[in-house]
Amino acid sequence: MKRKYMMISILISGQIQPGNYIDVYLAPLIEDLQLLWKEGIEVYDGHRKNQIQLKAMLFGTISDFPAYANLSGYSVKGYYACPICSDGTDHIRLKNCKKCVYMGHRRWLAPNHRYRNMPLAFNGEVEERRAPPIPSGGDVFKKVENLIIRFGKEFAKDIPTRGWKKRSIFFELSYWKDLYVTHFIDLMHVQKNVFDSLVGTLLGVKGKTKDGLNARMDMMEMGIRNELGPVEKPGKKPYLPAAAHTLSRDEKRVLLQTFHSIKVPEGYSSNIKSLVSLSDMKLKGFKSHDCHVIMENFLPIAIRSILPEKVRITITKLCWFFKSMSNKVIDPRRLSYLQQQIIETLCEVEMYFPTSFFDIMVHLTVHLIYETRMCGPDRMRWMYPVE
Ligand SMILES: [Zn+2]
Repeated sequence: MKRKYMMISILISGQIQPGNYIDVYLAPLIEDLQLLWKEGIEVYDGHRKNQIQLKAMLFGTISDFPAYANLSGYSVKGYYACPICSDGTDHIRLKNCKKCVYMGHRRWLAPNHRYRNMPLAFNGEVEERRAPPIPSGGDVFKKVENLIIRFGKEFAKDIPTRGWKKRSIFFELSYWKDLYVTHFIDLMHVQKNVFDSLVGTLLGVKGKTKDGLNARMDMMEMGIRNELGPVEKPGKKPYLPAAAHTLSRDEKRVLLQTFHSIKVPEGYSSNIKSLVSLSDMKLKGFKSHDCHVIMENFLPIAIRSILPEKVRITITKLCWFFKSMSNKVIDPRRLSYLQQQIIETLCEVEMYFPTSFFDIMVHLTVHLIYETRMCGPDRMRWMYPVE
């Protein structure tokens, strides 16, 4: 992923993004890739000083999540938004928040794990389901094989609205269906989104927080942690009881002041002090790399003196998971342990945070380890150098 090995080509689209029709623009690329796979091209080997036949294959694609939908042809909106869980996506539609959340992370736990038998801490049910199977390229191919999609506005009504929408042009490559992972989930985007939700909820930033009146009403309707339901007061706005993650004004100030006091070496990250607004009590203008640095190093330190211990440990574990995933070297023998840790951490987040916290980006952390196991460290595939 060094700059000298990168070649950037760009496509300038018009006013409308190509969206699902990206395949049309990818066709020349696929043609070249097919040539590189079947015949190869003759190149000069500077080391051996002779001509060799160079062959190449596409290892996978990496993009943000909306582009994942366009490239793979899977609709990442609505009830079945997770392309890996696919039909097995555990979804809940929140009426008051008007959005879908994706929970049920206890399904990935060991069958005898104690969290499975703790209905009151979760959604009121004992969890007996198993995790949905992970589809390989071949499984996906079976589903999309017969999906013939004609491109153009007049055929738009023929496109299915959920699940697999098209047979992606990448299947023209004969090896595509033999790959375990074809499209990667980008660690950078996942981490940025999780960080925004987490810090937004802790600081209660308007528009960023996942807590609020609607979120509490949804939890009431689902019978989850009823003691947190809004309390009506005549002539006043409903009062929201403090949850495990709620910070007092003083605690928010402590958190922000810690960020404000951080000094980093030249070139390590941006000047974090300038991203903290103590007067508005919020963080502003965070680039994805700043989130990376803060989440992996400074957030666990900043919350040391605030929050109940169990919530603090959960957040620290989440930060630690992202740090482990960003390592240059990951021991494959450690992956099972990491997977178990992230599942337990997500279950704990389910216990302490509001249901509306679980947007699709939070759920995707479940699938990161599988991709690392199959394709190597995320560092070799993430989007920092590209962006
Ligand atoms: Zn999933």
